[in-house]
Amino acid sequence: MINFKTIKVHLIDTFRTTHGAADEKEVVIVKIAGGLGEASPVSYYGETVETVISFINRADNAIGDDFFKLEDICNNLNKVAAYNSAAKASIDIAIHDAIGKKLNIPVYKLLGITPRDNIPTSFTISLSDPDTMKKQTEDNPGYQVYKVKVGVPGDIDMVAAVREATDTRIRVDANAGWTLKEAIQKIKHMEKYNIEFVEQPLHWKDYEGFKILRSKIDLPIIADEGVMTAEDIPLFKDIVDGINIKLQKSGGIREAFKMIAVARAFKMKIMIGCMVETSVGVSAAAQLAPLVDYIDLDGNLLISDDPYDGVKAVNGYLKYPDRPGIGVVEKDDA
Ligand code: MG
Repeated sequence: MINFKTIKVHLIDTFRTTHGAADEKEVVIVKIAGGLGEASPVSYYGETVETVISFINRADNAIGDDFFKLEDICNNLNKVAAYNSAAKASIDIAIHDAIGKKLNIPVYKLLGITPRDNIPTSFTISLSDPDTMKKQTEDNPGYQVYKVKVGVPGDIDMVAAVREATDTRIRVDANAGWTLKEAIQKIKHMEKYNIEFVEQPLHWKDYEGFKILRSKIDLPIIADEGVMTAEDIPLFKDIVDGINIKLQKSGGIREAFKMIAVARAFKMKIMIGCMVETSVGVSAAAQLAPLVDYIDLDGNLLISDDPYDGVKAVNGYLKYPDRPGIGVVEKDDA
């Protein structure tokens, strides 16, 4: 039996990318046999809170009564409907959490993963005017790396402003906002600000553009929006340097785990990221963090009223609570 509720969380600062701006986010929290999951739907993948609820309402039979049959459950969910990855993620996460709680072990242990205490997450600086972006960086000190949203006119000045505020690593994410010509020019300008890599510079499906861009610039390129599940990875293996995995795109922990194996087989770099999410979604993704190269798990850091307590960045490094499953409790119970 899948229980769920919709909650609205609020952003500390307006979250703005080339996809749009938001001051609040509605997510669906799922509960299955005591396990918690989260769907944080994004409109550019065709999902809303309504489509998530509609999917969940059709998913009861797909789950069955033996949660250890995870492979069957994921296959059954894919038969309920294609896509709907946030809805699928919420169920996959809740079942992983339920299994972890039943066995009284964290999900990372269930997956054979050893956590470390030195995994740094980036902190995202949203699109705004350069002064505001500089102030946002100054207001959130202590991170080992900042991820700066770009992809709009004037974005070179934005990166320059953030660089004035910090000496540490900076990544940029254009969220598909540049043409090939813009990407080549802007990245060459931004290189002098000591950038670690550039995420999703071009349109998701501009495979030819990625190929050309990669031959023209020195910075590594990470694909995000166009890579949802393991099936998408071969399309990008020769045209970018790495991929950004998110549970809300993959449909959950199980598929994300497979994606890590596939990407490694192609010798690609791996980033794990999130949407604007509560500590439920972020803590689930953090279970896989020790396996990847770059961590961008700050969704719960960007909201002011997260009802949950779980994996959270402390001094810029992920801190894993000593609790089973994905390690999340409601704040009132913490
Ligand atoms: Mg991205």
